[in-house]
Amino acid sequence: MKESLARRLGMQRSSDYVERFYTRSNMLSAIYMSGICVALEIWMILSLLTSYFEGMALGKERNLMWLVKHGWWYVLLLSVALIMFFYSLRFWRGKVRNERLANGLLWVFSIVCIAFGIHYGVNSYSGGEQVLAFVTMSLFVFGMIAWKPIFAVVGATLSFGIFYALLAQVTDIPMTYGTQVNLFTLWISTCVVAVSLHHQRVAQGMFDENLQEANMRLRYVATHDELTGVGSMHAFRGAVTMALENAQSRGEKLALLFIDIENFKSYNHRYGFAAGDEFLRDIAQGFHNEVFPEEIVARASDDHFVAYCAPERVADAVGGCCYVVRERRGEIRLHTRVGVYICDDPDQSIDQALNCARIAANSIKLHPGEHLRYYDEQFKKSSELRQYVINNVERAAKEGWIRVFYQPVVDCKGGTGKLVGREALARWDDPTHGLLPPYAFIETLEQQREIDILDRCIIEQVCRDLREDLDAGREVVPVSLNFSRLDFELYNVPAFLKQMSEKYDVPANLLDVEITESALTDQFDELQANMARLREGGFALWLDDFGSGYSSLNVLKDFDFDVLKIDMVFLRRFEGNQDARVILNAIVELAHSLGMVTLCEGVETQEQFDFLHGIGCDKAQGYYFGKPAPRAA
Ligand code: C2E
Ligand code: CA
Ligand code: CA
Repeated sequence: MKESLARRLGMQRSSDYVERFYTRSNMLSAIYMSGICVALEIWMILSLLTSYFEGMALGKERNLMWLVKHGWWYVLLLSVALIMFFYSLRFWRGKVRNERLANGLLWVFSIVCIAFGIHYGVNSYSGGEQVLAFVTMSLFVFGMIAWKPIFAVVGATLSFGIFYALLAQVTDIPMTYGTQVNLFTLWISTCVVAVSLHHQRVAQGMFDENLQEANMRLRYVATHDELTGVGSMHAFRGAVTMALENAQSRGEKLALLFIDIENFKSYNHRYGFAAGDEFLRDIAQGFHNEVFPEEIVARASDDHFVAYCAPERVADAVGGCCYVVRERRGEIRLHTRVGVYICDDPDQSIDQALNCARIAANSIKLHPGEHLRYYDEQFKKSSELRQYVINNVERAAKEGWIRVFYQPVVDCKGGTGKLVGREALARWDDPTHGLLPPYAFIETLEQQREIDILDRCIIEQVCRDLREDLDAGREVVPVSLNFSRLDFELYNVPAFLKQMSEKYDVPANLLDVEITESALTDQFDELQANMARLREGGFALWLDDFGSGYSSLNVLKDFDFDVLKIDMVFLRRFEGNQDARVILNAIVELAHSLGMVTLCEGVETQEQFDFLHGIGCDKAQGYYFGKPAPRAA
């Protein structure tokens, strides 16, 4: 109640913004008001001078005293109005900002105006004229300038009171009842107008403040990443465009960095999403404050950041990024990968340039231990090839560019080295690019979710080849086929295999299904169901690449495989490494105890074969027995 009254009377200070808005709009009113006063007073002074000279011509008494007597009010108001005019104009233009002085001047100016109004109002009245001079000035002071209600009401009451008292003294023209009522009504109206003006201004100021806040918020959202508070991609593009223009005008280049924090998923997994978000925020601020304080860092997506710097600063910046992550990663092994693209083509889009940096960062996966890679010509070629693969996969399948190469699998346990199977490996025999190995197209097709086109084509060719061999009476051995995790999402693998084996009349026991260990990490139930159906269909299930990635023995417990295919990493570390031999031995024993057949990949020497034979590994595969090759017709 008390508060609301205080607010209505304007006795409470509004927010700084509203106070500033209030003063500013009063200064705008003051420009008009003082401008009019200046014009009026100049006119009055000119009239006075005319009557001075006319009077002189008529021989009336005219001297300096006469001028001062009749003109000092005009000069006073003119001087104050001039000061007010120039000060308010400068204030409005932002050249001066002293709010106290502005308000002080406004008070002085208004008091002089009212005093002038009272003086000439009383004089006109006593001269038999109306009270318009006073009314005009009250209108100016209380109707154009917004005062806090308490000052407005007290000020208006005082002005009217003094005016009324002075009028009452002019005895030769007694005030009529009508004039009294008019003055009273004017006083009330002036108060109401002044109070309502104040409230309007404050409301407008508050509205303006909200709008301003909303604008600032919008601008913040557009230029900042919501999660981490560093720049948004929008802000980043703007900053890079400017930095690039600056660099080019100096004949320099600019380095764009794509920063990827590998294995961040594990962090989320271990500490939860909230901690993961907090970590990203912390990292982002670390990049911004410690590594790129002068430039903008932005978050491109999830755990990917982008930044830019001068090319000669790249090594330091990458070192800084790695340090920031290392300091904060806790117990999780996080690897920082930075791809760098040096911009020198002014016509290239920033997104294209960033994409190049991203490609360079992704390629670090193939070079464990490295943190930094530059995008170069080699990348350009491979990204062109990638695009080619995407555009032509269907055509390649149709035109027979996709071919099956076979690699022999031999008996190891018996030590005979006799052919017991073959692995079907895809090749893309391109009319312009020549023979492409799987790494040139498998990952791309997986990313495009089009790996099924290739795999179905391979399955059909293998069945066709087997049919031909059977028809020709040649000896056949089972063929193992590679499947991606995505195959199981993209089509019904068990149904398709069954369909093909029926179409070409190939017994299911001639077709084996290889699934890599990394495919088993998600959509567990779905995969289990598919595997059960494959087994029902009579297809053997092989676990491929065992031991290559984040191996988990759980896989052996949770899934039922017929053959365990041991990755070649163990043999690569074989020479002079006792551990590798111990591990291989243990894996073979474990697999046997679980009822699985063992196959070791990547055998390249007789020594390796002898060792595998010694530990009882069932089968072997590798260059030692034969590289993947086209089927002998
Ligand atoms: P993978 O299934 O592990 O295939 C074995 C790879 O090791 C083959 O590479 C083979 O040429 C190579 N290799 C075999 N013996 C040796 C050896 O003694 N030493 C060395 N250094 N390497 C050996 P390739 O043919 O380049 O295939 C690479 C990968 O591409 C395959 O790995 C498989 O994951 C994928 N892939 C191949 N064909 C297909 C396919 O038809 N469908 C799908 N989805 N993936 C395929
Ligand atoms: Ca394989
Ligand atoms: Ca393998």
